[in-house]
Amino acid sequence: MNQNPAELKSWVKYAPESDFPIQNLPYGIFDDGKGGPRAGVAIGDFVLDLALICEKNLFEGTGLEGNPFREHRLNAFMEQGRSVWRAVRNRITELLSEHSSQIRDDHALRDRALVPIENVALRKPVYIPSFVDFYSSEQHATNVGKMFRPDNPLMPNWKHLPVGYNGRASSIVPSGISVQRPMGQTMPEGAETPIFGPSKRLDYELEMGFFTGKRNPMGACISTTEVEDFLFGMVIVNDWSARDIQKWEYQPLGPFLAKSFATSISPWIVTFDALEPFRTMGPKQQPPVLPYLQCEKPWAFDIKLEVSIRTSKMDAYQKLCSGNFKTMYWNVAQQLAHQAVNGTNVQVGDLYASGTISGDSPDSLGCLLELTQGGRSPIQLTSGETRTFLEDGDSLLMKAWCEGDGFRIGFGELEGTVQPAQ
Ligand code: CA
Repeated sequence: MNQNPAELKSWVKYAPESDFPIQNLPYGIFDDGKGGPRAGVAIGDFVLDLALICEKNLFEGTGLEGNPFREHRLNAFMEQGRSVWRAVRNRITELLSEHSSQIRDDHALRDRALVPIENVALRKPVYIPSFVDFYSSEQHATNVGKMFRPDNPLMPNWKHLPVGYNGRASSIVPSGISVQRPMGQTMPEGAETPIFGPSKRLDYELEMGFFTGKRNPMGACISTTEVEDFLFGMVIVNDWSARDIQKWEYQPLGPFLAKSFATSISPWIVTFDALEPFRTMGPKQQPPVLPYLQCEKPWAFDIKLEVSIRTSKMDAYQKLCSGNFKTMYWNVAQQLAHQAVNGTNVQVGDLYASGTISGDSPDSLGCLLELTQGGRSPIQLTSGETRTFLEDGDSLLMKAWCEGDGFRIGFGELEGTVQPAQ
């Protein structure tokens, strides 16, 4: 599609501020209580039922094999590769564009194919074999580093490689699923022996993550020019974190139970094709990186971010921070090239999260640990309450969107509520 995205219009009506205009078309798995969970794309206030569109042979000529949209995860579609992703996206764009009559004028088909978004439950969109979490914001790494090492916040490796760790894939949940406060072992300040109990310093982390849609054979690496074929799309990630458990367990091997109890993702996967107009330069990397991490193209994306909180005493969400994904020091191409440089076999459906996204200003810090300076400066809420870390009943809301010329590429909402420990 070489058309200027601002000129694209759909026969499906939606407000200009909709997260899901025809320029977006994010993939998700929806369940309308009829016919089982299946794949769709969001368009305005509707979900376009891709399983049905495929059944009607409307993807003919795209190279799509079978009907992967009947599956309750997107992996079977992702496996078909970048040329099919492109062709299918172009066909959906064509079918929904204002001059196309195929669905628009077939009323019986149109009524079945467009399911009101308010009538569906959104499922985890992908079976996720592996989950990696990076640590790619210089501001976040510096702020957190300062708490532990005031004179030497960034470790000597930090500007030479995108630091990351292997996370827990099985506890990744979609938006709307509550998260239980974890139990664990902590070492209270001044104590000599650890205690066991509910975490008292439960935090969120604002992150973005990308899914890979192609596998490489074990032993083969992926260059920063080859990553394009692997990158399927992005979601918002909330990496729930128990700071007190983390502080006691993290040395010498890094995060473990402080992170593995839950990670939330937004339900719609925004494709890299939809993000293309928002590709931009990231921060200058100094010192220069090793050749395998050098990129020909800019690989940052201008994605605006916002986090809000609502306690059980509040009627509405209150903003905690706003930021932008383009501030990340390490980009998605470098993260994937680094993951595979030792010959790791990347899989279809792997999730790679960015690490907490923090900016330069005090209102652009992506977690409570930073916003409250380790719990020393409580946040004042409109309800009269204060927060250092999350309490039971608190809900977190994360939003992400790209601002286009007359349209926005939205990620929808990622919401989660803290339940008491059990
Ligand atoms: Ca994280």
